[in-house]
Amino acid sequence: KIFNKMLTMQGRLRVMARIRPLEMKEGGGGGQRCLSIAPGGDTIMLDFDHNGAHKFRFDKVFSHLPNAHSDTEHGIAEQVLPLALSAMDGYNVCIFAYGQTGSGKTHTMKALTSIICRKLFSSREGFKSKVSVSYTEIYNNEVRDLLRNPKDDHGRSEWGRVDKIDHNVPSLDVRTNSDGKVEVNSISVRITCAEEVEDLVRRGTEIRSTFSTDLNKHSSRSHALLTITCEVENEWAGLKYCGKLNLVDLAGSERLSRSNTEGDRLKETQFINTSLAALGNVMSALAKDQAYIPYRDSKLTMLLSESLSGNSKVLMMTCIKEGTEEASETLCSLQFGARAK
Ligand code: ADP
Ligand code: MG
Repeated sequence: KIFNKMLTMQGRLRVMARIRPLEMKEGGGGGQRCLSIAPGGDTIMLDFDHNGAHKFRFDKVFSHLPNAHSDTEHGIAEQVLPLALSAMDGYNVCIFAYGQTGSGKTHTMKALTSIICRKLFSSREGFKSKVSVSYTEIYNNEVRDLLRNPKDDHGRSEWGRVDKIDHNVPSLDVRTNSDGKVEVNSISVRITCAEEVEDLVRRGTEIRSTFSTDLNKHSSRSHALLTITCEVENEWAGLKYCGKLNLVDLAGSERLSRSNTEGDRLKETQFINTSLAALGNVMSALAKDQAYIPYRDSKLTMLLSESLSGNSKVLMMTCIKEGTEEASETLCSLQFGARAK
């Protein structure tokens, strides 16, 4: 308990939640709501089986619901920017969005990326800094480069394909170097302004694996990892340091029965479940300050190991939907978040 308090004070591990508002359906409301926020603003109450509310406490809850923290871009930025920008002070930072498909992970990470990058490039006065970006996805436990145009080798540009996957794109090697650091041979692009990052992300996202399932037409079946590396030189103070910011849009966490899948989709779901379980185990081991942290159980946790350990700062944004129809998935997501506290 005391150690948990210390972690909070140091801001090493944080778990926040964001609630996606109900869709307003044509000609009526958006269905029943199963969530409310307790006074104080950090406890979500989930009530769907009339057995009393399940309560989950977070570091911050962003929502339009009464008592919650402001869900505006500005409201979220205020809570997230100090942590994100500490990458410029040499910290390794990892921010990831967890939740079922359609809960707002991509929406949230896209907004955060823009806010963070704009701030990153506007707050660099007095520093000489080099910022570079790499963007990869983990799909079926294979790592692929999203900054590499899959058809470049053939001299053709194929940006903009969404439904087709080029299975000929070679997957990247994940290696452990002599210092024990995990390395991946992804392309790293030097960046000079926020718009360049947004453009790379937009193009990379177009080739990210998306498929149709019964649950959602564009359900993301891969984890996307955007890594922003900041090398900062403060000539005045004679200091040099390097920090890394990982912005991770995880694959949908919904359980198999929900998306009614088979064949390739079944295999995908199994890889997603395994890697999300590995991430949960790592977060829970970190929260308990265990000596052994099981990074090697998946490529996801291997690639993030540097940003999930040592002097790193971690923020998990648990994205949930507020409709009663989604209550059992929401319960799973809230439980996942709670394990990391
Ligand atoms: P996910 O990546 O978790 O599958 P998305 O980010 O794609 O979910 O969100 C699903 C849909 O809901 C999108 O159309 C998105 O624009 C919308 N949406 C998500 N979060 C919000 C929000 N906080 N406010 C309004 N619309 C949202
Ligand atoms: Mg998405």
